[in-house]
Amino acid sequence: MTENLLFADANSDFESSNYVILAVPYDKTSTHRQGTKESPHNIRKESYNFETYLYDLDLDLVDVAIHDLGNAAIDSTPNAIRKILEAKKIPIVLGGEHSISPLIISEFKDISVLVFDAHLDFRDEYEGERNSHACAVRRMSEIVGPERIIPLGVRSMCKDELADAERVSLNFITAEDVRAQPFEAIQDIIDERLKDRIYVSLDMDAIDPCYAPGVGTPEPYGLTPIFVRDVIRRIAQKVVGLDIVEVCPPHDNGNTSALAAKLVRDFIGTREKS
Ligand code: MN
Ligand code: MN
Repeated sequence: MTENLLFADANSDFESSNYVILAVPYDKTSTHRQGTKESPHNIRKESYNFETYLYDLDLDLVDVAIHDLGNAAIDSTPNAIRKILEAKKIPIVLGGEHSISPLIISEFKDISVLVFDAHLDFRDEYEGERNSHACAVRRMSEIVGPERIIPLGVRSMCKDELADAERVSLNFITAEDVRAQPFEAIQDIIDERLKDRIYVSLDMDAIDPCYAPGVGTPEPYGLTPIFVRDVIRRIAQKVVGLDIVEVCPPHDNGNTSALAAKLVRDFIGTREKS
């Protein structure tokens, strides 16, 4: 797949950039809805919808060193991530489906992982596939250790994966927990359990389908975009990498891609200012 459209305001060359956008339009294991591979193009397209000036942060993104490296095939994704990390830049990866995240984090050293997701994604295999999107958190927990990963916004799982998660003491925070507790209490859990280098994996279905309808596997009773934004803002300075996965343009009216683009822009802006 060729991709000529770059993310808005990614005007820097690779060498002088601080943030590197990379897209992995991979959706081979999608089970419910097809089309996640189209999301990088749509997220990039929607990124032009916004003002370059972020008024609430008093920051203009044209002044930030952002590079868009284009698209990577699944096989060359680890190499691309390694190149970005060796150059000491922050990768921002646009999926594709959630199965790309374990490949990405395997290139990092000494990190914790915060996963926004409606689903526990803790199956050992799904339909015979260990690298399925339904196994993403399981694979990531095997890389960083179950004590170093927090799935946040969870509201769907099968009985077996819940049993497996409990067996390894996986600490997940449900969407109901988020509604039942003050923001600070959730933030305290994140601060306490995760190290100073945090990778954020944002499965867009964590956000309620009324805000993010265009996802591979929509699940009602979700998080608000503002909650997700505020969590990312609070930890932005510790974030060493970010992915946004599972946007599914054929089922989107454009708003899910726009929200994904906005969260990328907000993360960059906040990290620059904090
Ligand atoms: Mn997921
Ligand atoms: Mn999900």
